[in-house]
Order: sequence, then C-alpha cells, then structure tokens
Amino acid sequence: MSSEDMVVLTQLQKKYGAFTAVDSVDLRVPQGQIFGVLGPNGAGKTTTLKMITGLLQPTAGTITIDGVRMDEDPLTCKKNTGFIPDRPYVYDKLTAFEYLAFIGGLYGLDGARVARRIRELLELFELAEWADSLIESFSHGMKQRVTFAGALLPEPKLLVVDEPMVGLDPKGHRLIKTLFRRLTERDGMTILLSTHTLEVAEEICDQVAIITHGRVMARGTMEELRTETGSSKASLEQVFLQITEETEGERAERVATRFGNAEVYESKSEEIQ
Ligand code: ATP
Repeated sequence: MSSEDMVVLTQLQKKYGAFTAVDSVDLRVPQGQIFGVLGPNGAGKTTTLKMITGLLQPTAGTITIDGVRMDEDPLTCKKNTGFIPDRPYVYDKLTAFEYLAFIGGLYGLDGARVARRIRELLELFELAEWADSLIESFSHGMKQRVTFAGALLPEPKLLVVDEPMVGLDPKGHRLIKTLFRRLTERDGMTILLSTHTLEVAEEICDQVAIITHGRVMARGTMEELRTETGSSKASLEQVFLQITEETEGERAERVATRFGNAEVYESKSEEIQ
C-alpha cells in the first residue's frame, strides 16, 4: 500500500445472513483528501462506513487505517478515527460541556488540553452560549453540531461522516464545507463521507466512489468520472444516474476503456468463502 493512503479496503465484504450488503470492495482513500461515497438507498454506504469505524465486524476482507490493520490493532485504528453517524447519538441528560469532557475522558486526553479544545469547538460550532445547557433542550441541528464537536475533539487523523448535511440549515452547510476544507488542507486530516446530496459531493469532494448493491461501480475525480462516462459537460447527477443504472455489460465496457481488461477481470464480484 502507498504511505499516502489513509484507508485501504481489500476485498471487504459484509453479509447479513444470506444477503450480501457489501461485496468484495477494494478502495483506497488518499491521505488529506475529502473522499465521498455515493450510492442509492441500500447501496451499502453506512455498512461500509461502520466497518471502517470498527462498529461492525466484516464478514471477510481487511481494513487498514493509517497503515494499521483493524483486525490486528482495533484500538489504534479507533483512536485515529472520529465518527459522525447520520443521526446524532448524544446523551440528553448531559450538558454540551459535560458530553465533550466525557468524550475527552474516553480518548484519555489530559484535562487542560480537553478544556481548551472544548472551548475552541463550542465557539466554532456556535454552541458556547449553551455549554451548560442540557443536550435534551437542543434542536436537531444543535445536537448534530455537538456530535461534530465530539468527533473532532481528539483531533483524529481520519474523520468518517455518514450524511454530514442531514438536519443542518444553509448556514450549517456552509460552516461544515469550510471546516472540512480547513481540516484537510491545514491540518492534513482525511475525511471520508457518504452523501445523497450530489451538489455537496461535487463541491467539496476531491474524489468519489459510486457504489450500488454493495459494489464499487466507479471511482475517481469528477473529471475522471465525466471522461469515463463520455460526457464531458455532465453534472454529477447525470454521471451518477448513468453509472448506477448501467448494466453489467455496459459497466465492463466502461471499465475496460479506462483500465484495460485486467481491471475488468479483477473487478468482477467474487464470493469470499
Ligand atoms: P441509505 O442511503 O438508505 O442509508 P446505505 O447505502 O447506507 O443506504 P446500508 O444501510 O449500508 O445502505 O444497507 C445496505 C443493505 O444492507 C440494505 O439492503 C439494508 O437493508 C441491509 N442491512 C443494513 N443493515 C442490516 C441489518 N442489520 N440486518 C439486515 N440487513 C441490513
């Protein structure tokens, strides 16, 4: 693997009973990028992200984060990773400050650093005024911002975000977009996100992977995906629809045009025993 890859997935698979939700996924997420995972409902996005954060056990395959294999050293992988789920799971009976202090404790951060980081993050997410209010009194968007603050508190190398814009107003959208840019460009963080909002992906992602039925159908920069689908002026929506609706034969032809036949063979779904 390249030292520039923050996440490497190799033949990753997740089965729920007989149903294969994630099917032999090979994917590399370069360090310092904003990488988007796109796909229709039920494509396997959340399942993939949850395996990367260590919340779900893969059925087969490997996950490597910053050069460390999840199955060999899950604690180091989890220490390096912040996760923001699509719904804010926060403790309603804690105040915003208490919740963040609790997260700092879980990560074993020292008291003075935690107090400083909490103050910075509450300011950043415009929650300073409500630091001592119970989270149960917060709106959905405020809870989402507390979750963001919690995930960023330990300064993870990798931030995994499931649907970052859900429940946020336009001002919140802008805050997150600017923040993500700053985190990757200034702090060298890698951000892996899933989204249904194609404009968000187009605007902020350096690269995207499009998955359907648990398989990676295409990956690359927007420019590469446009070239691949032969539509240089297409919007991401057009590229997305073309890729997610194409047949196996059309896919094989598109991939062969881009990579040559070897890639077509390797990309075929193979059942892992
Ligand atoms: P969405 O965009 O709707 O959130 P998604 O791409 O995140 O979808 P997943 O939530 O990963 O998709 O689900 C992938 C498939 O796995 C779906 O068909 C879903 O019904 C199935 N699935 C997810 N979790 C479970 C589970 N715990 N048990 C059984 N099947 C599951």
